[in-house]
Amino acid sequence: MTTASGLLIDFEEFARRADKVRAAIGEACAEIGRMPSEVDLLAVTKTQPAAAVEFAARYGLRAVGENRVQEGVEKRAQSTAKVMWELIGHLQSNKARQAAEHFDRVQSVDSVKLLNHLDRAAAELGRTLPILLQINAGNDPAKFGADLADAPALLEAALGKAHLRVDGFMTIAPLGATPTETEEHARRTFSNLRTLRDDLAARFGAPLRELSMGMTGDLKIAVAAGSTIVRVGTALYGQRSAT
Ligand SMILES: *Cc1c(COP(=O)(O)O)cnc(C)c1O
Repeated sequence: MTTASGLLIDFEEFARRADKVRAAIGEACAEIGRMPSEVDLLAVTKTQPAAAVEFAARYGLRAVGENRVQEGVEKRAQSTAKVMWELIGHLQSNKARQAAEHFDRVQSVDSVKLLNHLDRAAAELGRTLPILLQINAGNDPAKFGADLADAPALLEAALGKAHLRVDGFMTIAPLGATPTETEEHARRTFSNLRTLRDDLAARFGAPLRELSMGMTGDLKIAVAAGSTIVRVGTALYGQRSAT
């Protein structure tokens, strides 16, 4: 049964779940001596109604993540919540203009072509668009993201764009055949991205602060590896019917 909001849960249940996610982040931080305030909890509201965004804002979360441009644009038009909107799903060049106009940050930038389109769109809009570079740090054949080997050239191109601001990197860990293998993939993927960031930040003299890594299934591993943004949907809103 759904409530009037179109969501399967009410705000109190959402708050309990968000508290639990925060506690998990806190535990992972305590184990390695990080401050929980260094890790932002991004509420992934894809496939959820606009009420999901209101819940996130009311709980005090900074931002929501959407994986499709059109869905995000429509939801944002229905929402009065004071949150930032981040695009976390694959972006095609022909939607770059819409993304630059309606999102506060794009996390899924994975090609020079897309950089060119976003920079031109941001220039026309008279804004600076914050971005993350999505890297396929787990070498997953099924995932989007630039190859690790191509990351330096992609970063160099991004840093040269007058209307883009590069905040850091994003990745998605590949699933394994077993839970143990999935965990190993996550550890390797997140460690690869962390190392890449540290190397490139030193080489290019750029802060590149953000490491967007970790979702419902692997957020503690990600926090242990240095994640600054965990993107969480299922643990907050429950299972999605479709993606
Ligand atoms: C859907 C999605 C998430 C959230 O996944 P959950 O497992 O539901 O937490 C995170 N990142 C990206 C890029 C997604 O598409």
